[in-house]
Amino acid sequence: MIMEVQKKKKVMFVINPISGVYKKKNVPEKVARYIDYVQYDYTIRFTQYAGHASLIAQQAVEQEYDVVVAVGGDGSINEIAQSLVGSGTALAVIPYGSGNGFGRHLKIPPRDVKGAINVLNTGKIVKIDLVKSNVRYFISNAGFGIDSSVARRFKHHTTRGLSSYAWAMVKELLFYFQPFEAKLDIDDITVEGSWFLFTAFNANQYGYDYAVFPFTSLKDGVLDVILMKYFPLKKLPYIVACLMLKRPDLIAEAQSYRAKKITIHGNKKMVYQFDGDAFVYHDDVTMEVVPHAINVIVPQELNAY
Ligand SMILES: [Mg+2]
Repeated sequence: MIMEVQKKKKVMFVINPISGVYKKKNVPEKVARYIDYVQYDYTIRFTQYAGHASLIAQQAVEQEYDVVVAVGGDGSINEIAQSLVGSGTALAVIPYGSGNGFGRHLKIPPRDVKGAINVLNTGKIVKIDLVKSNVRYFISNAGFGIDSSVARRFKHHTTRGLSSYAWAMVKELLFYFQPFEAKLDIDDITVEGSWFLFTAFNANQYGYDYAVFPFTSLKDGVLDVILMKYFPLKKLPYIVACLMLKRPDLIAEAQSYRAKKITIHGNKKMVYQFDGDAFVYHDDVTMEVVPHAINVIVPQELNAY
C-alpha cells in the first residue's frame, strides 16, 4: 500500500529587524522550535530597507508560497499586504512593533512568538477587508490630524513605545500642531471644516489596545470613521477622557460615520498616516473599502473580528 504524503505548505517569515523597541534576534530560534514541521516548510528573510518587505512578499507570491508571516509592526504588515492582494498567499502575523493595532484586533498578543506560531499551526484562514487609497492599501487605520503629525515627527525618534509616543503627542499639541483645513465626502455626506483629527478604521484600534469604537469589524465592508473639529486646548483633558472611555459621542466636536468610500479634498499639502507611517499628499485622497481582499490566518476560536 502506498501512503500518500500530503504536500507541505511553504511559509515565508519576513522579519523587520528594527520595528518597535524590542530585539528580534531570537525569533528564528523560536520559529525553529515551535513551527509544525508536518504542515510547513519555512524560509526566513530579514528586511534591509523601507519597502523591502513588499518586494520579499511579492517574490513569495511568485514562488507560490502559501503563507507570508509579517514579523514586525503595522507598518511591516502594511508593506506585505500590498503584495498579497489578489493572490492565493495568506498573511499571518507575529506582532513585534510598537502599537501592534492589527495583531491586537485579531487577539494575537505582541512579542509572543510561541503564541503567534501556535495560531499559524492551528488557526484558520479567513478573508478580511483592505482599504484602497490613491496608491496603496491600508489594513489597520489611516487618516490625518494629530495622529499623522505625530507619526511624521515620530519617524525621527530613536526610541519607540507608548511613553515616547505620548510625549511626542504632548509636544506636538503644545508647540507645533496646526488644524487641517479640508472638505470630505463621506459616502453621500459632504463636510467642510478645520479639523483636529480624522481617522478611518479598518481594524479597531490605533494600537496599544486603544480603540475608539468597540464594534469595528475587518469583515463588514465599511470603515468606522472619527472626525473631530479643532477645539480650544483647554478642552483637551475632557476630550482625552471621552476617547479613553470609548465615548466619542460625548464630544461635541466629534462626529462618527460608517462609510464605504471617503474622498478628502485638502486645500494644500496634507500629512497623512497610513498604518502609522506618514506621507505627504498634495492631491485629493480617496479611501475605499475592498471587501474580503486578503486571506489572513487568525486564531481558530476567533469569530468576531
Ligand atoms: Mg469594517
